[in-house]
Formats: sequence, structure tokens, C-alpha cells
Amino acid sequence: MNIVKVERFQTCNFCQKPAHYDAPMRGRSTWAYFCDDCYAERGSHNTGTKFVLMTDDEVAHSKCGDEVYDAKLEDQFMASVDIEELMEESLFGDSCGVEVADGCMVEPDGKCCHGYSSPLLLAGLI
Ligand SMILES: [Zn+2]
Ligand SMILES: [Zn+2]
Repeated sequence: MNIVKVERFQTCNFCQKPAHYDAPMRGRSTWAYFCDDCYAERGSHNTGTKFVLMTDDEVAHSKCGDEVYDAKLEDQFMASVDIEELMEESLFGDSCGVEVADGCMVEPDGKCCHGYSSPLLLAGLI
């Protein structure tokens, strides 16, 4: 995942919470700052690009494997993914992987180091 170091967090474009992501909006080419909740609701999950904003401290603690797998996050993510579109994209698109719940990119039948599986795998398509 792409990590951007920030001095302090931007404000989410949709509410007043601190933004943790800089990413495209779902269905648009416009980018916005999102907090976690607004990203789940409005962020584009199918384009591979998103930047995760972190303060220095967080970057230091974000080593692979430190994040804890959260089944609820994975459920939420699955609910927001358009599986058919994703399937098509991974078969015919030029993206080299699919995004999992925490923003990592994995092989279409893979799992990231934090324990989140590819949506295609979860949906039983692979
Ligand atoms: Zn928000
Ligand atoms: Zn991960």
C-alpha cells in the first residue's frame, strides 16, 4: 500500500474527522480526503490507487504483520465491493492485483500479510 507521511491529518471532506486516506471517490475521477468511515462508504475500492496518510509515529508502527486482522472490516469491505466488476477487471484489466480490506494489493487468489483475503477468494470465485 502507498503510505504518505503527514505532519498532521487533513480533515475528511465529508465529515470533520481526521482523514486517513487520500483516494478517488467511488464512480468518479475526483480525489478526496476520507476518514475510515467515509472511505468505506464513498471511496473507490476498485481502483488500485489510494494513499494512506500516516503520521511519523504510525509509519514507525506500521510494519507488516503489526496490524490485527479484523473480520468486521473484511465484511464491510466485501459488502462494498462489486464482485463482478472486480472479477472482470482482474481477468481483462491491466491491474496486477486486487485490493483487500485494509488496502493491500494481493494476487487475485492471495491474502495479504495482515490476514485479509482477496475478495474474489472470499466470494468463492477462485
Ligand atoms: Zn469522514
Ligand atoms: Zn494488509
